[in-house]
Amino acid sequence: MPSNPFANATKQLENAARLLNLDDNVLEILKNPKRILEVSIPVKMDSGKVRVFKGYRVQYNDALGPFKGGIRFHPKVNLSEVKALSAWMTWKCAAVGLPFGGGKGGVIVDSSKLSNGEIEKLSRGYIQAMGDFIGPEKDIPAPDVYTNPQIMAWMMDEFSKIKGYNAPGVVTGKPLEVGGARGRSFSTAQGGIYVLEKAARKLKMNPRKTTVAIQGFGNAGSFMAEILCALGYNVVAVSDSKGGIISSEKRKTKNEKLQSGNSKFNSLDIKSVIKFKKETGSVAGFPETKTITNDQLLKLDVDVLIPAALENVITEKNASQIKAKLIIELANGPVTPEADIKLEKRGVVVIPDILANAGGVIVSYFEWVQNLQNYYWDENENIGKLKKIIENSFDEIWSKKEELGISARLAAYAVAVERVAKAEKMRRGL
Ligand code: NAD
Repeated sequence: MPSNPFANATKQLENAARLLNLDDNVLEILKNPKRILEVSIPVKMDSGKVRVFKGYRVQYNDALGPFKGGIRFHPKVNLSEVKALSAWMTWKCAAVGLPFGGGKGGVIVDSSKLSNGEIEKLSRGYIQAMGDFIGPEKDIPAPDVYTNPQIMAWMMDEFSKIKGYNAPGVVTGKPLEVGGARGRSFSTAQGGIYVLEKAARKLKMNPRKTTVAIQGFGNAGSFMAEILCALGYNVVAVSDSKGGIISSEKRKTKNEKLQSGNSKFNSLDIKSVIKFKKETGSVAGFPETKTITNDQLLKLDVDVLIPAALENVITEKNASQIKAKLIIELANGPVTPEADIKLEKRGVVVIPDILANAGGVIVSYFEWVQNLQNYYWDENENIGKLKKIIENSFDEIWSKKEELGISARLAAYAVAVERVAKAEKMRRGL
């Protein structure tokens, strides 16, 4: 992973600023995070020994509303990554018109090596360290890589204890029992589906003939695979941190060709892959599949590629070997700016993260609204409202892309940066 994701995020902002002819004063403000918190979190481990974990929260911009963004638990978390993720959250919330700014958090930890009790202490410790800086009106965290609804419940509980009252609106992505939103668990994937379906129609793809490879099989990737299969797409390859799998090649009988489109591979049985991963800890080794590396997965001859793991996986080194026609960025920052240029030249359409994976924060927004009102909606209402917001955002961004002959990323950034810039100007009298 290149060492400076924040440099990439800044480059993306500068590209949009150039297109918008943005005032230098405003650009200077938008290039800098408003606040960076670095904390040490002591945890008494099961062994009795104390370990101190480093945690971050970057509050990037709140011109449009309170900071919003997930917390990542990962051994490779670093400040540049958290800054980049917080900038991307700012543009994401603005791109889809939410009244939120952007923030992000992270803890340097390999949580797979911690017991449940140790993870709980670490989660509570993070909130104790950040308590004064977060809150329903200030900054609202959520899950990200290797954090989940249970961790959000502990964080909400800890914050409520500190404040002395119940404050469910301090984090989103909570379990339903403690104020979560119905449909939040699969909302990132569902938003990705709405966006993919719109893009596929523009590119005249037929779901029943479309092959898909997905990198990352966690919250975002596994729900995406499951919903795509239900819609009739051929999900032929998936992966996680331990490796990837590709389905077996089809025997070419006339009937099979007619029934399942033009893929030379069978579709994976995703429900069984999910069960297999639950039992074994990985998709790798799933029966009757061939094992592939994560890098091989990215270069497969499929129609749609969905990075749903970490940032900077499609770089200037492998961009020319990507064969997919359409990339849906379910992960944050999977394509570097250098790779973007190469892909655009080759006519590969990239639906950027700040639109493609916005389904999660959109339903998080509904969760926060419901927590503040103490009035809860059903799943249809949450998902129906998500569909409307994300499809309208897609249409707005796609029209700009077509009108100006630019990439979908640049169009999305133009929409987002203009919104934040206008708010900054009005608030500061610039
Ligand atoms: P998760 O922890 O649920 O799953 C992460 C997945 O990525 C796991 O399957 C893991 O094995 C895999 N992975 C980790 N390192 C890998 C590597 N080096 N190569 C291949 N696979 C690897 O996380 P998630 O919530 O699904 O998040 C995945 C991506 O989606 C992240 O970029 C995250 O920021 C983004 N995202 C998530 C949400 C959300 O609501 N969960 C919303 C928007 C964006």
